[in-house]
Amino acid sequence: RRFLLSQHHLPRLSSAALFMAKLTVNDLDLQGKRVFSRVDYNVPMAEQDGAMAINDETRIRATLPTLKVMVGKGAKVILTAHLGRPKGERIGTMSLRPVTKKLSELIGQPVAFCDQCVGDSVTEAVTHMKNGDLLLLENVRYHAEEEANDPTFSEQLAAHADVYVNDAFGAAHRAHASTNGVAKVITARGGQCAAGLLMERELQFLGDELEEPERPFVVILGGAKVSDKIKVIDRLLEKADTILIGGAMAYTFKLAKGLTVGKSLVEPDMVNVAQAALDKAIKRGVKFLLPTDNLVAEPTELAGKFAFGDHRINDSENIPDNVEGVDIGPKSVESFSEAIKGAKTILWNGPMGIFEDPRFAKGTFCVAKAVCEATADGATSIIGGGDSVKALNKAGLGDQVTFMSTGGGASLEFLEGKELPGVSAL
Ligand code: AMP
Repeated sequence: RRFLLSQHHLPRLSSAALFMAKLTVNDLDLQGKRVFSRVDYNVPMAEQDGAMAINDETRIRATLPTLKVMVGKGAKVILTAHLGRPKGERIGTMSLRPVTKKLSELIGQPVAFCDQCVGDSVTEAVTHMKNGDLLLLENVRYHAEEEANDPTFSEQLAAHADVYVNDAFGAAHRAHASTNGVAKVITARGGQCAAGLLMERELQFLGDELEEPERPFVVILGGAKVSDKIKVIDRLLEKADTILIGGAMAYTFKLAKGLTVGKSLVEPDMVNVAQAALDKAIKRGVKFLLPTDNLVAEPTELAGKFAFGDHRINDSENIPDNVEGVDIGPKSVESFSEAIKGAKTILWNGPMGIFEDPRFAKGTFCVAKAVCEATADGATSIIGGGDSVKALNKAGLGDQVTFMSTGGGASLEFLEGKELPGVSAL
């Protein structure tokens, strides 16, 4: 099966969009083929009884559908991934070895491990593979050449492979050897390169589904900074019917509107940019909602450490001098929920407040609930990765939305309309 993908999938450029047909793993004949498969096993780990233990196996589970297809087709699957930021050094706590056991349990077959990702020991390990076998290579970022997208290193990685399959959407915004260079080497040799099923789903929901969204299309954006998301806001202003802004980001917009923000987190140098977005919303007839009330708390020091004092609802658009906005208030929850209720397509990225602190999580959780209710009523809800996914999972609502992206940075860059090197190389 082929799917259509536009790298420039969002508004403005869509008339001149460049559609490219990409292969997926389902299209390939893999019988007896050696497949170099890039996966995202950058899983959170912590030391437990002197060994590293995996805290969250979501990313490993997410690769199982693609792995099962490859195994079922009789491929010899060589898995490559990174863990953390070892910056070219062998750091024991960043070894992928613990993933081997977990993957083996989840997929129900043995998984071999090679403590290198290039060189003779890999050659040896691949030589012994039978059709349908799985082999996991050691952390590819133990070599600085990975992040440098070094052509010689890409050749070394590709030395044992006939085919390239990339299922690591979360790393697709990086032009690294294993996400980009290897695909180029294999293509140059006349080998096939394809997207895994997870990658395909990400591109389908963050790309194709938002190309012609069913209306009303409601976008919810939150998180810390306007600067991180302004490009996404700008593009979505050409597509959305309603944009809801929460999180600290809202306070920079409030500044632009001449409101007071007290000690809230703001980016004064982004006020003009925020103003331009507000003007664009008016010009295009996009409903652009900011919180009309907030939860506020007094930032203080407790035993030399930063802390928040008492919190209360500030039932005004203006925030007093001595307090910081930490969440959206009940009136804002109500108006945001009302806007979400009628949506047919929802895109959500970023929390409404400092949700990591249970005292300030209510706004984010209420928005999560509204998104799930709209989904139950037939809306397509797409969660753009990062903290919104964490918040949904924390609220136990992760299975009640249409799609949760596995990529934080990658999904934002994709929504900005940037070309992802891990995708364009396919
Ligand atoms: P981002 O990575 O941009 O989505 O930002 C997520 C972070 O924004 C989370 O760690 C939140 O704690 C933080 N955040 C959300 N609302 C606020 C706020 N009102 N003040 C400070 N930080 C916030």
